[in-house]
Amino acid sequence: MSRFFHSAYSGLTPYTPGEQPQDKHYIKLNTNESPFPPAPGVLRAVNEAEARELRLYSDPELKSLKKQLSESFQVDVSEVFVGNGSDECLNYAFMAFGEDGIAFPDITYSFYKVIARLNNVRADQKPLQADFTIRISDYLGTPCAEGGFSGIGRAIVLANPNAPTGIPITHAEISKLCEANEDHVVVIDEAYVDFADTALSAVPLTKHYPNLLVTQTFSKSRSLAGARVGFAIGNAALIQDLETLRNSNNPYNVNRISMKCAVEALKDTAYFEENCRRIRENRAFTKEQLEKLSFRVLESQTNFVFAESMQLSGQALYQALKERGVLVRHFNDPRISNFNRITIGSREEMEQFIKTVKEILEQI
Ligand SMILES: *Cc1c(COP(=O)(O)O)cnc(C)c1O
Repeated sequence: MSRFFHSAYSGLTPYTPGEQPQDKHYIKLNTNESPFPPAPGVLRAVNEAEARELRLYSDPELKSLKKQLSESFQVDVSEVFVGNGSDECLNYAFMAFGEDGIAFPDITYSFYKVIARLNNVRADQKPLQADFTIRISDYLGTPCAEGGFSGIGRAIVLANPNAPTGIPITHAEISKLCEANEDHVVVIDEAYVDFADTALSAVPLTKHYPNLLVTQTFSKSRSLAGARVGFAIGNAALIQDLETLRNSNNPYNVNRISMKCAVEALKDTAYFEENCRRIRENRAFTKEQLEKLSFRVLESQTNFVFAESMQLSGQALYQALKERGVLVRHFNDPRISNFNRITIGSREEMEQFIKTVKEILEQI
């Protein structure tokens, strides 16, 4: 740290992204990217003609992408916000709606804690239950005499399904959260929602709850992690607030090529759905194989599984896999340090992963 660094940030612990090693080829199951290339229309959109257009600024109103999103999600254009990754949408949501603090689980996407600190938003972390599910009553406040709940007096952010557990909450629970906390915003981070077995997105609920903001990303199910595009859907007044912050910070937040890629990715629903189906199939395969090797595997509705070996610590397994060219994600938090988060890749990658785990277990 230089002696010039603003004291407001001197205690900041930045987010630790998953490794993106360049030293050799790994089977990369550590950052929940898609094993499949972007849709064919995306590959065609990235061409020389488009590169020539880079001399021009991108559209600060993001019109083409907002229009495509509004059609795909059956909402008005005024109900759509587009960010440089959903991380940017989340950061603006914390800035916009975090005045009274924000509540989220102790075990969840670790970026929440970082952006809370960055924006001087008080973080209220509620422990997950022993089975790693969210206790909804922690987010409702006290019951009122006339029915309903008092609310908890601050905003809420929940990843649904949660990460790194992979466990979802229901529409009924989200409705309850919005009704109990009508004076604060409830943010539902749906980075993994497309991998659920049945329709899980809370986007339709945004019509009923003016305090509900849903974020999604192109990084996982749409194979565009490197393009950095995410979006938020909610009541037009909430979107307006996010736009005020975006236009005060970086009105050209999504570049021309990424915007084009995102539009093309959204159009190809058949390719998208087939890829999600393949991930679900490979997830079931991976869970079954790990359980045969006496792992405990949480019931996941995402493109990863969270698994604990009965023979090897989480750290030891992570290390042994890495030495053999397979990268998974390990977290040091004591509650989950015996687990690893394993991204679901192609069938070949998952077969290779299982084979490597077997070799490791045979050697101990
Ligand atoms: C990956 C992820 C995101 C954001 O990803 P972007 O690439 O910034 O869109 C948001 N929330 C969770 C829980 C994630 O895992």
